[in-house]
Amino acid sequence: MTDQNSAAIDRRLLLQAGSAAVGAMAFSDGAAAAAGAAPGKGWEEKPMRWVQICATDDDPQRYDQAFWMDLLKRTSTGGVCLSAGGVTAFYPTKVPFHYRSPYLGKTDMFGDLTKACKKIGIRVLGRVDPHAMHADALAAHPEWVARNADGTPKKHPTAADLHLTCPNGGVNFEWMPKILKEIVTTYPVDGIFGNRWGGSAGICYCGVCKSEFKAASGFDVPLSLSNPLAPDVKAYNVWVDEKRYAQIKLWNDTVTAVNPDAFFTPGTWGRLDPVRLRSTIRAVFSDRQGRNGQDPAWRNGQSAKEAYCTMQDRPVSGIFAVGETSTPYRFEDSCQSSAELATYIHDGLAHGFRPWMTKFKAEVFDKRWVPVVEQAYVWHAKNENYFRHTENLARVAMVQSDQTATYYVPPAPQASSVREVVPEAAQPRVGNNDYVRGFYQSLVESRVPFNMADERQLDSSYISRYKVLVLPNVAALSDKQCAQLRDYVEKGGAIVATHETSLYDEWGKPRANFALADLFGCDYAGKTDPRVQNSYLTVHGPHPLTVGFDDTPRIMAGTKLVHVKPRDTQKAPLTLVPSYPDLPMERVFTTVWQTEEPMVYLRQVGKGRVVYFPFDLDRCFWETSNQDHLALLRNAVSWANGGEHPLKVTGAGIVDVSYWRQANSVTAHLVNLTNPMAMKGYMREILPMGPYTVSLELPPGRTVRGVRLLESGATVTGHMTGNHFVVEVPRVHVHEVVAVDLV
Ligand SMILES: [Zn+2]
Repeated sequence: MTDQNSAAIDRRLLLQAGSAAVGAMAFSDGAAAAAGAAPGKGWEEKPMRWVQICATDDDPQRYDQAFWMDLLKRTSTGGVCLSAGGVTAFYPTKVPFHYRSPYLGKTDMFGDLTKACKKIGIRVLGRVDPHAMHADALAAHPEWVARNADGTPKKHPTAADLHLTCPNGGVNFEWMPKILKEIVTTYPVDGIFGNRWGGSAGICYCGVCKSEFKAASGFDVPLSLSNPLAPDVKAYNVWVDEKRYAQIKLWNDTVTAVNPDAFFTPGTWGRLDPVRLRSTIRAVFSDRQGRNGQDPAWRNGQSAKEAYCTMQDRPVSGIFAVGETSTPYRFEDSCQSSAELATYIHDGLAHGFRPWMTKFKAEVFDKRWVPVVEQAYVWHAKNENYFRHTENLARVAMVQSDQTATYYVPPAPQASSVREVVPEAAQPRVGNNDYVRGFYQSLVESRVPFNMADERQLDSSYISRYKVLVLPNVAALSDKQCAQLRDYVEKGGAIVATHETSLYDEWGKPRANFALADLFGCDYAGKTDPRVQNSYLTVHGPHPLTVGFDDTPRIMAGTKLVHVKPRDTQKAPLTLVPSYPDLPMERVFTTVWQTEEPMVYLRQVGKGRVVYFPFDLDRCFWETSNQDHLALLRNAVSWANGGEHPLKVTGAGIVDVSYWRQANSVTAHLVNLTNPMAMKGYMREILPMGPYTVSLELPPGRTVRGVRLLESGATVTGHMTGNHFVVEVPRVHVHEVVAVDLV
């Protein structure tokens, strides 16, 4: 895409935009200003535990209200989400084409449950889902249905009598607001939760989409989104995102017009800009219900960090399903193993989620999840004050980049080994997710408390709280974002960057040189090898980066190499041994024993520090789990940090840690992820671990009044070492919290 094309898209969309909120581009800097003032805090601050009862059409005649009301009381649940309308209405709606459950009869399941919950002080969100429509609606409103490229209506993939709705036209912008208004007017609900609120239809070729997109961008609706660099695809992404901002605003305005204390909240927000989201949304309930067997054990903690980064000081709740919903087969009437469920819940809690349990189908067959959820909720309620955080105390943050995830198309690897051809499907085509996961895993294993930082809020008022920012191949960065990072380093911040970081602009357009070349201390030499076989790093220790390598002259290099030219002649602690044959065995040797080519650039810039690795260290660690790569990533963050982390945990096993402050306490969380299948598999059994030594840096001017362990219930003692308070934790079952009360 040329600059000219980029600018043309910008101009057309801006010209077409009717309101200020719709005027800003997805990744633009003017978004915050355009979005207006942030909403104030309201009732959403209070509920700490949530339950969602997600009804099926036949539930009105089959579910046991007493079971649910009893569970809500026993678990001190503060908020519920109840199926209200959209695909099916669970109340006697009067809105035309709003399909009532045929099992509803003269009853009102939604209304009855809402009243019962409100009576005992539980807040209620009505759940709506607009993604599918019935035949009568299609006959009366053919303009509502999502259409294929050939103009035929899109059938629902699993329900033969339903069709998919277009998310950009009459359903979401005219019909659903009537339903929202009816729900909020008729029932004492506190808000509306949107499930599949942006539809599930993929690209839609209905008349509305075709004409509105053409008018906005000058393009036809693209036939495929598989090439994110195509100008029409970029324009389509921007247009769709603007539709979602407009929908959030309309739905929220619809709700607040009836009840100013109520609000709309979307279950997912994808790549939408956190700054713009916060201008409308008061709380999020993050809809990532479970992990599949390929997801790491820390997956829910990552979701919590992402939500916390998006919402900052507002409540974030994490949705978990008790059923098995995270594979394509969705066995929703069964339930997950207790070990998996407990670990998933607690890893979210440790990183700031309030728990939200989702049960698909109000009728319950398999009740084995009940004691797991009850135990977690009762414990959470008992210790609620230690979960009302005022601040996360991490001083390391990972930059998350939706631009890179959307628009970075890495150079494609070629097979270079006779042994193996790289399967295309095994290599991510777009984005940096494997770099993120590799770096994330290394931070978990290194027990570094860390947060996420969004690329759209790199202004110093936000990121100056961090000592180190890690950039896991954050390839797509705008000039402004790079200037913000430069400013951050000049003022004393540190960055650790890998691979092609800053080598592309925010739209994925390659640059001639890294935008951060001055920080890295090297220039791009015009070439990135997408596949390197059998290459090494020569260790030149002792050095802070070579700690742990004293007994080896070389360690593994990566599998992707960025060619760079150093700006000075400083000797690097790690240099390249170039790739040499890996087969046949008789040829696996090299005459080039070592080179002077640096494989890490470490520099002091201004008051800050910079580490840059010109290869895929983090991605390669994700793929190979090599111990030396783990040590190298850990050493790099440690050198960049220049001192101690505010929380230190020593002891055996894999524990996911976090460190939080509340009004009168600090809490160190240790989630036990030790499991034979911890890297890529479901938890099957809890293996208790310990002992651990936990060292907490105290806030300035505060002293310790008492300390206790929230999981074991034990009261323990500790001692001061400098400004750190040191506590021995004998054992961690699933999730121990060291709660230190302060005076
Ligand atoms: Zn459409």
